[in-house]
Amino acid sequence: MRIAIISDIHSNLAALEAVLADAGNFEEIWCLGDIVGYGPDPNECIDMIRRYPHIAVAGNHDWAAVGLVETVYFNPDAAAACLWTGQQLTMKNKEYLRNLPVTLEREESTLVHGSPRDPIWEYLLDEEQANANLRYFHTKHCLIGHSHIPLVFSYGDEDKNGECQMIDLPISGRLDLTRTQLIINPGSVGQPRDGNPAASYAILDVERRMLRFRRVYYDTRKTQEKMRLLGLPPRLAARLSFGL
Ligand code: ZN
Repeated sequence: MRIAIISDIHSNLAALEAVLADAGNFEEIWCLGDIVGYGPDPNECIDMIRRYPHIAVAGNHDWAAVGLVETVYFNPDAAAACLWTGQQLTMKNKEYLRNLPVTLEREESTLVHGSPRDPIWEYLLDEEQANANLRYFHTKHCLIGHSHIPLVFSYGDEDKNGECQMIDLPISGRLDLTRTQLIINPGSVGQPRDGNPAASYAILDVERRMLRFRRVYYDTRKTQEKMRLLGLPPRLAARLSFGL
């Protein structure tokens, strides 16, 4: 079974379409949250994901768009885009976002948006945090999003006395899931922040227990032009060119 693991789509339909085309044949989508926020196509992105067999967890932007959390923690551009998103969403899609769970377990992975101990808000970016989060999930691996940065933490490496370490993304893109326990962030589909503007996601091969990181170039100008016409904050459009 092949699974497309996607996160932080942020209403960027051009990026989502490119990722799903690149993924080819897959049986399911696992979505790690923030389908909406920032970008121009909130309903279209939800509708697209709902066309596939999928599971999804809630992100902070998904909740903010339907009023489940305040936008006081958002910067002004994010808050403005969030307000606009809430005005666009159909009743059906609002209902869909409201009903997303915060945590899911599937196969040998726990799925959350932020982190296992704080699924909506924590940006899990360093080894200390990864160590502290270990006791908050009970599957072999944990899949996270939220920071928009593809990364991997590995536990239990004998060289490190079982302490967690951040490991480099494999040059081949292929990550072996059979060995140590891992926390994995596939990066962001719709607003990458690691200096590479290409959409980021991963493909999981369940039987072979192999994960593959992928980057896909898409027409950023298409999304930027839509954002300009809709009057969304110019800085949110500009950053897509740089992956920042
Ligand atoms: Zn996000």
